[in-house]
Amino acid sequence: MTVRAAITFDVESDCPGIADSYLGIKKGLPRILKILDEMKIQATFFVVGSLAHAFPKVIQTLSSRHEVASHGLTHSTLDGQSPDHASELRRVKRLLEEVTGQTVEGFRAPRLRISSALFPSLVAAGYRYDSSQAMWLPRHRRLQLGQTSIVEFPLSIPNVFLRFPGGLRLYKTFFPRGNPPLTLFFHPSEAVSMVHPLRAAGIQAEGLLMRPDRWVNTGVPFVNRLRKLLRFLRRRRFSFAPLRDFT
Ligand SMILES: [Zn+2]
Repeated sequence: MTVRAAITFDVESDCPGIADSYLGIKKGLPRILKILDEMKIQATFFVVGSLAHAFPKVIQTLSSRHEVASHGLTHSTLDGQSPDHASELRRVKRLLEEVTGQTVEGFRAPRLRISSALFPSLVAAGYRYDSSQAMWLPRHRRLQLGQTSIVEFPLSIPNVFLRFPGGLRLYKTFFPRGNPPLTLFFHPSEAVSMVHPLRAAGIQAEGLLMRPDRWVNTGVPFVNRLRKLLRFLRRRRFSFAPLRDFT
């Protein structure tokens, strides 16, 4: 029996609000695309709309083989109740569609900050699905889609687990099966060693110790684990597709 799986990436600066460099897009993304090409996997890339001007070629390359979806206009959070949200969501959708020439159907909230109030705005802006809900966050269990037509693809497991000691084993033991599809998310910056960009952004040793999730096993160890994880899932007959194919 095949089980559905979506591999997704949030395309943004290296550490939004902290390290606004783009080594992830410049160096990490090609490493990730190489693995996906090798394994003939189509993924979904949730792209911050403001990058459409800075990296149009990169986004076009992504859309030629994969799905491009929306990760907000500037990575600022949209979880409050504001009538402006629908227009911002519409704007980022239009920006990405102009660059890719394809319809943008999906949304993932910056920082996974979402409220039930945002779902009607997503419908108003023309989105078909959302993938912001995190199975491991208690506050997300109370989210209500209401009467909207939005399809929700909750994230199955925190991205950082793959990089922590024993992480790969954890994924192999606890990956969920069936419905909804296994939905994994990572960032291009995880495929680059993040110690230097964080130091360059002024984060001291103390700050690095406080937030190991931001840098532990980024770079080559992450790339190797991602490849191993995807090979494992394929051996277990997971079938990979971009999220839009599951709606
Ligand atoms: Zn993000």
